[in-house]
Amino acid sequence: MSGDLILRVAVPAPLYSCFDYLPPEGVGLDGLLPGVRLLVPFGSGERCGVLLELVAESEIEITKLKPASKLLDTEPLLGQEDIELLLWAAEYYRHPVGDVISSALPVRLRKGMARATTGLPGWGLTAIGKEQDPLALTRAPRQAEILGLLQQHPDAPLSQADIYLNMDGECRAILRALEQRGWVESCEIVPSREERLGEVQVSTPHLNRDQQAAVDAVIRHGTGFQAFLLDGVTGSGKTEVYIALVEQVLAAGQQALILVPEIGLTPQLLQRFQQRIAAPIALLHSGLSDLEREHAWSAAVRGDAKVVLGTRSAVFTPMPELGLVIVDEEHDLSFKQQDGFRYSARDLALVRARRRECPVVLGSATPSLESLRNAQVGRYEHLMLLKRAGEAVPPRLDILDIRSVNLDAGMSPVLLRMVSEEIQAGNQALIFLNRRGYSPLLACYDCGWIAECRRCDARLTYHMGNGVLWCHHCGSQRRVDSTCPECKGEKIRPLGQGTERLEQVLAARFPDTGIVRIDRDSTRTKGSLHRLLDEIHQGKYQLLLGTQMLAKGHHFPNVTLVGILDVDQGLFGADFRAAERMAQLITQVSGRAGRAEKPGRVVVQTRHPDHPLIHTLVRDGYGSFALEALRERQSALLPPYSYQVLLRAEATRDGMPRSFLDEAMELGRSIGGSGVEFWGPVPAPMERRAGNFRAHLLVQSGSRAELHRLLAVWLPKIRGLKSARRVRWSVDVDPQEML
Ligand SMILES: [Zn+2]
Ligand SMILES: [Zn+2]
Repeated sequence: MSGDLILRVAVPAPLYSCFDYLPPEGVGLDGLLPGVRLLVPFGSGERCGVLLELVAESEIEITKLKPASKLLDTEPLLGQEDIELLLWAAEYYRHPVGDVISSALPVRLRKGMARATTGLPGWGLTAIGKEQDPLALTRAPRQAEILGLLQQHPDAPLSQADIYLNMDGECRAILRALEQRGWVESCEIVPSREERLGEVQVSTPHLNRDQQAAVDAVIRHGTGFQAFLLDGVTGSGKTEVYIALVEQVLAAGQQALILVPEIGLTPQLLQRFQQRIAAPIALLHSGLSDLEREHAWSAAVRGDAKVVLGTRSAVFTPMPELGLVIVDEEHDLSFKQQDGFRYSARDLALVRARRRECPVVLGSATPSLESLRNAQVGRYEHLMLLKRAGEAVPPRLDILDIRSVNLDAGMSPVLLRMVSEEIQAGNQALIFLNRRGYSPLLACYDCGWIAECRRCDARLTYHMGNGVLWCHHCGSQRRVDSTCPECKGEKIRPLGQGTERLEQVLAARFPDTGIVRIDRDSTRTKGSLHRLLDEIHQGKYQLLLGTQMLAKGHHFPNVTLVGILDVDQGLFGADFRAAERMAQLITQVSGRAGRAEKPGRVVVQTRHPDHPLIHTLVRDGYGSFALEALRERQSALLPPYSYQVLLRAEATRDGMPRSFLDEAMELGRSIGGSGVEFWGPVPAPMERRAGNFRAHLLVQSGSRAELHRLLAVWLPKIRGLKSARRVRWSVDVDPQEML
């Protein structure tokens, strides 16, 4: 027997190894290329796996190997390079390889369904059809009409949907008649925006000096790997730099991958890319149907889509001609998946670019401390955009001390007066409160009872709009009690502020002013965010209030005052990253103001006006804040000066997570490793969530390599623990949140 005839297949399952099979009956080895999908027998059923390689030997005796049931593809879905990146990610994040490989595929393909035909049904002219005179078809006016329509662009077929639209209805029979004459033929049209490009005015705006310098720095580097941190204040025009770089890459015949945090929140960014980049763009985000996603994915895989613009999981999109990777708002938490396969798309973008040997650009107005550190030590080239584009002036930040001040709906009298002045002057004001709902708690004024979630260690948020108490952690809802369950008293009142209550109070105070609220509740229905943003730009509202949804890249040129309420929780959060996040949020929200010619003013309400970090942030800006925060991290040996792994466990019975983690720590200590520390186990900051008790163990080391050496030995041993079967546990490499 010669050659490799055993198939090593990644099968989606919570198991850490691949599985070996024999080729399906009747299938020759030449069709079995790595990257094709196979239906394989697994347990009592069948699963759709991906062939990783052909090998000569198996740990299992060859006579005991089963043949795969069916070959599903005629050509590989994933290239060798894609497979290698995924295997690297599975290893690094310690996640089952079958799950990782499967998660890189569009949902329909994961399920083993046949690939969608690549295009939409369409019709084009044959060579003879192009020569026909529609006017000669006097006895078939409808055929003449379609022929005339197609002859307007004789070399560009039209989609069937477009033809129906032009003909005011279905007209398949007429198309068939034309087909029988041999004048038209059916075809597939790959969804792209190519055909629309004729209408788009492609303009090359003048880059300012900083922008041009940033573009030049990347271009100067040529094609090899290099990471760049594009550190540009809000409004400095990072998008223009991205567009100029993408144009360069397209001119070289290559593809560009652009990762963004949440497309739904930044329709403007998307529009700009679509208007300005004269090449087919494939969009990949959660707002698409499975079929739409697959179409976009296929266009990227075929190389038809020159640009892929997508959220987190788009980092795995196979792109045969990839020449540039961009990660916009690289500090954003949504690049890290928080459950299951807990990868960081930002970090994988770097790994991908390094393997591909192409440049990667991380952009942000508020870079993560990790990225700033990498720039400090020269791993990334630091590109700065210090000035706002155009004439816009940066906003002025002020601290507003609210100690011993009577607040009305969370707003101090000074801030209320300032809002009133801006409104009278015909400007817009923006109030930022990062808590949705009516009020964070409902309390009994007689006995002090507070409405709490029965399944979590959390207070319920009162949503007055629909009269329910809502747990923002497990999603459970309950009606508002009319009497106190403890003392039967009737003085049940909301306490504290949420955006819903703030809106009510402001509406009473400014009765003749248009007020709009932007948060998850007010934008629940599809398209509503888009509509509200449009209305803001039309000047329908003078008072804008909302949560961090307002901080995500929208431009509000007429906003001249930003009031930021309740920043103090960020200063004393349980998470060591709390201050970093708070500073990013304040800076991002501030960036919404004064973007046009009107200067903006930002007022930060705090009960801790002397806190050094907030002081530095307000006085000297995010860059100085970040330097100071980095110094604090360094002295505490926290990331980025060390590397962490979080072992989480949860169970319905109290105590079980702790005893599992105790045993796991024991094992870990016995393996050791120089400079590896174990912290905990401790209850999670929210110990009970959705009825589960939760705890975690933090493992930290100054050396990433040491940490991973430990994991390689430790995790298989943990899987063997008896107590591991009594809890749900997971590993989070480079955790971003402790919750
Ligand atoms: Zn009571
Ligand atoms: Zn809950």
